Amino acid sequence: MHRLQIRIRREVWSEMLSHCLEAMPREACGLLFGCLSAAGIPVALNYVPIANAAANPLHSFELHPQELVRALYAAGGKQELVGIVHSHPQTAPYPSDHDLATLWHTTPSHWIVSLRDPSLPEVKAFAFRKRQQENFGLEAISYEIVMD
Ligand SMILES: [Zn+2]
Repeated sequence: MHRLQIRIRREVWSEMLSHCLEAMPREACGLLFGCLSAAGIPVALNYVPIANAAANPLHSFELHPQELVRALYAAGGKQELVGIVHSHPQTAPYPSDHDLATLWHTTPSHWIVSLRDPSLPEVKAFAFRKRQQENFGLEAISYEIVMD
């Protein structure tokens, strides 16, 4: 089966990591906008930081509703939402039970930036895939950092 993958511009990658580091010790969240490449692979071309509106931002995230709407509106038509990013300041880059219950199934990718060692962030990308009827599973996907 074709392995799910996504590309991210190096500059966008850096902005994503910087935002996650700045938000410490709270979880950071943000959006990746981009387009599909000729080969049908999503490419993240822009990172938009979004405030974390969770009641307990040390251990969870919730995209600030107004900022979310504003970002989606600003991208309107020109670029698509290709990923949602959040950080785990203390834990590994794998979805928590809360993440699994709340992440949007329709978003092409979910990125988790682990800052257990802030000098060496660990980043993993995931996507939901339909496994059986009505059953979605979250699977790791590969990403490539590109220069353009
Ligand atoms: Zn999480």
